[in-house]
Amino acid sequence: MLKDEDRIFTNIYGMHDRTLKGAMARGHWDGTGGIIKKGRDWIIDEMKASGLRGRGGAGFPTGLKWSFMPKESDGRPAYLVVNADESEPGTCKDREIMRHDPHTLIEGCLIASFAMNAHTCYIYIRGEYIREREALQAAIDEAYDAGLLGKNAAGSGWDFDLFLHHGAGAYICGEETALLESLEGKKGMPRMKPPFPAGAGLYGCPTTVNNVESIAVVPTILRRGASWFAGFGRQNNAGTKLFAVSGHVNNPCVVEEAMSITFEELIEKHCGGIRGGWDNLKAVIPGGSSVPCVRGEKMKDAIMDFDYLRGELGSGLGTAAVIVMDKQTDIIKAIWRLSKFYKHESCGQCTPCREGTGWMMRVMDRLVRGEAEVEEIDMLFDVTKQVEGHTICALGDAAAWPIQGLIRNFRDEIEDRIKAQKSGRVSAVAAE
Ligand code: NAD
Ligand code: SF4
Repeated sequence: MLKDEDRIFTNIYGMHDRTLKGAMARGHWDGTGGIIKKGRDWIIDEMKASGLRGRGGAGFPTGLKWSFMPKESDGRPAYLVVNADESEPGTCKDREIMRHDPHTLIEGCLIASFAMNAHTCYIYIRGEYIREREALQAAIDEAYDAGLLGKNAAGSGWDFDLFLHHGAGAYICGEETALLESLEGKKGMPRMKPPFPAGAGLYGCPTTVNNVESIAVVPTILRRGASWFAGFGRQNNAGTKLFAVSGHVNNPCVVEEAMSITFEELIEKHCGGIRGGWDNLKAVIPGGSSVPCVRGEKMKDAIMDFDYLRGELGSGLGTAAVIVMDKQTDIIKAIWRLSKFYKHESCGQCTPCREGTGWMMRVMDRLVRGEAEVEEIDMLFDVTKQVEGHTICALGDAAAWPIQGLIRNFRDEIEDRIKAQKSGRVSAVAAE
């Protein structure tokens, strides 16, 4: 279990003073100007050496992403944009940072922006996060008043402005290019990539989009050293990580742990175990709703990191939003509910997603009721394959993968329901 002194987020439960005074007492904003004076190359090299992989879900190496930004200005301004549009079902870790530990993020914005030659950073916060926006804005104001932001920020010699932009509640605006469109005042629709934002991002300028947690851990990594951070977790899966555990555990929580902790340890040490005991565990979605579910019996010894969950279990760490389902769960209905979500949130600009999400949701609805034919299971799987990889953004994949996980892992349950329905043995399970 991670020791308290190795936790980056020292106020994740809001037990302490979240103001600048409290944050400084807990070691934040310590020597920030000195870190900046070590220079861009040093910061980016340290970030690469730390092994930090993006905490927004995709796990792209953060230091590498920063290195894509132009070293010298070509006349266009550079931007850092922080993706605080946390909306993945099950995911609520960034919320806790912004509510209770906002200075970790603000200090990270300054250092990361300097490293990428950006004098301006925008934080794009989810529309529903009203208290979080208020907490973050209050912290930004305090930082300006204390000279930590603005001209010669934190005595670093770097002029830096930080703006908070409030979204309007569309899940798709968490996709980085839709977010940029929205920030520019347009409809939040994803752009084709490439070009990636480092080449042409906000207003066509070099831009890096990073998740809240990815930026909030930067100051501590640079203060304590890349090798300290790299010492947690397995190779290629370094660091500490916020896990958001929800569903059928005795104590759902957000907790910072070492990467590569086992699922059993995570649940036993922090969540009071599975509701009804381990024999009652049916399925787990280990990384937010976009990754496939895994059967409970395969999860107990699972290593909670990017490579194990994808390579060994065909799922993913994603946002590390761990959704636990016990044997009382109607898993077909649970996945149908996700299908309904993705259909609702599709921006509609590409056909496989616009049409496919609706098609998949309607077949899922029939499977919940047991009113489909058994052959439709393969047909549905085939449709998920037609959507996967054939869309502009990852929402199409995200809509396809939960269904693929359901069919791979719980086909017997889907077939049993259809057969029972045909024989009149069960009444239809009505979808909402
Ligand atoms: P992605 O793999 O396309 O990109 C990840 C990041 O790496 C992006 O910033 C992208 O610009 C960069 N990148 C990737 N390849 C690159 C290259 N060749 N050159 C330069 N930069 C490159 O994934 P994505 O579409 O950004 O994100 C998908 C993930 O988002 C899913 O895995 C899901 O878990 C997650 N997600 C999170 C939330 C949330 O609330 N946090 C919501 C929805 C989805
Ligand atoms: Fe829009 Fe869906 Fe296409 Fe993404 S995959 S751009 S959400 S239609």
